[in-house]
Amino acid sequence: MLNVPPQAFPAPGSQQRAAAGGRTKVPLKPGRSLMDWIRLTKSGKDLTGLKGRLTEVTEDELAKHNKKEDCWICIRGFVYNVTPYMEYHPGGEDELMKAAGTDGTDLFDQVHRWVNYESMLKECLVGRMAFKPVAAPKGMLSERKVLGASARDTTPSYDWFQTDDLITVVIYTKRKDMNAELVIVDCQDKRLRGEIILDDHSYLVEVDLDHEVQDDFAVNVAGKLGKVEITLKKKDHFQWKVLGLPLESHNTLMKRMERGLFYRTCKLVSKTEVTHDTKLFCFMLPEGTHLQVPTGQHVYLKQIIAGTEVVKPYTPLLPFLPLDFKELSHQDGAHIYLMIKIYSCGLFTQALDHLQIGDDISVSNPEGDFKTSQVQGVEDLFLLAAGTGFTPMVKLLNLALTKADCLRTVKLIFFNKKEDDILWRNQLEQLALRDERFEVQFILSEPAEGWVGKRGKISSSLLSECMKRSKKDSKVLTCICGPTPFTEQGIQYLKDLGYSHKEMHAFTA
Ligand code: FAD
Ligand code: NAD
Repeated sequence: MLNVPPQAFPAPGSQQRAAAGGRTKVPLKPGRSLMDWIRLTKSGKDLTGLKGRLTEVTEDELAKHNKKEDCWICIRGFVYNVTPYMEYHPGGEDELMKAAGTDGTDLFDQVHRWVNYESMLKECLVGRMAFKPVAAPKGMLSERKVLGASARDTTPSYDWFQTDDLITVVIYTKRKDMNAELVIVDCQDKRLRGEIILDDHSYLVEVDLDHEVQDDFAVNVAGKLGKVEITLKKKDHFQWKVLGLPLESHNTLMKRMERGLFYRTCKLVSKTEVTHDTKLFCFMLPEGTHLQVPTGQHVYLKQIIAGTEVVKPYTPLLPFLPLDFKELSHQDGAHIYLMIKIYSCGLFTQALDHLQIGDDISVSNPEGDFKTSQVQGVEDLFLLAAGTGFTPMVKLLNLALTKADCLRTVKLIFFNKKEDDILWRNQLEQLALRDERFEVQFILSEPAEGWVGKRGKISSSLLSECMKRSKKDSKVLTCICGPTPFTEQGIQYLKDLGYSHKEMHAFTA
């Protein structure tokens, strides 16, 4: 349990007050933080006004509750009285009012489908919709609902085979560009879940297996054939009559946005200091999981804080900055490394910091819209990072320095407040000495007197001064990550400097 002073949230500059995740957040009144909301939900107060009674809600009834002082919203068939939540909503009352008296599922999914509303709003539950809501429930969309007839030919399929010892599930993805990062398999307690990422869609095989299997399994990807094989080891030597009982979303192809995030339990194996306030956390995936987080993507961590599930995104990186970049040499597949800044008033990071070695935490499947193909053919790569916005740049550097054959220069322009905030400074300087394509420049917004390097915050003049192409008209990519105002301003300055949309990528949630 956290011991947080009631008025500390949201602190000035907190993400709960500031803009975040590519959408505008509004300043919350003091005493209206997530922690304050959690406290209110635990207070025993009747938040629905129905004294704990659940009711069946018709569309007409729902529509009547469309005012700030009386606001009901339907999400995935469940109706919540969000009136008491209004002042606590980080996106502001007006955002919430967009769904007042209606089915807000689509709006919710667009903005923050990773937020666990079931847990956050459980005390606001009024009941179920009497009629099916307009948006389909999570996990219930069939392949036919997602794809038009012409697309069905490209729908993946699966089959399974067995020997005395092995069960092999084969997924025919009908794609020619498969790789291990596009395959996520979890097999625990007889439940097999194999998800194949196909651009913005995903195909799922999900069954309750007929018999027990061992924890370890093999995943083989025949990239050019588009074939994925999951080979499970039987615990006994029975001949299975069926693979198992299909679960709700088995054999479906649907938009990734519409599929619920899947979490597995990982163990904290180490926690090491990076700077005065930032730590490198190493989490071990369970044995029955095959998961490789692609470059530029993040995962969500989920913890129960004061009885409520809280979810935050983090960007996996490598355990250290390799000086000799080699393809995949530093990804062991069994661990996830996260570099996380611990905020003194941070709800989630304080709880993370209190985790002990061996403690469990839930880690989701990866998400993110960065595509590794974006670095193909790039000659000059600029990385604009602020604070922990450095995290996606680590794997990106690895990718660029190993794979981008045309690459001439990579420049990391790293914005921090003070010198002792700079993450992996030594390693970055070492790399710059070692690889002549790589250059790093540190820019401080609150430097001490003796600082001889550049100072200030992101600006058009700083960028035009620091970003020089290796040759006129070289193919450029600029990636940017940091606090939302930093990223938004950076994108605007780049546009003003004549960079096109294709020449930039912003990391956001
Ligand atoms: P909150 O309770 O939300 O914030 C409260 C406190 O945090 C305040 O006291 C405030 O002082 C401080 N604070 C929070 N953000 C800022 C800020 N930008 N500037 C100044 N003060 C701030 N974080 C990492 O450390 N590593 C990552 O790899 C990482 N990856 C991310 C990936 C994505 C896609 C996104 C959107 C965010 C990522 N973050 C990462 C940020 C992370 O998700 C949390 O927002 C962060 O850990 C703060 O959570 P909290 O609950 O502890 O803080
Ligand atoms: P910080 O507060 O220590 O600031 C670092 C630097 O960012 C500052 O020195 C300054 O140059 C710049 N900066 C800060 N606020 C600014 C503003 N309002 N306008 C212009 N420049 C500003 O940074 P931090 O505490 O390490 O925060 C890192 C941020 O990066 C967090 O907001 C986190 O959510 C975000 N992040 C995003 C991702 C992603 O993929 N989207 C990944 C990692 C981190």
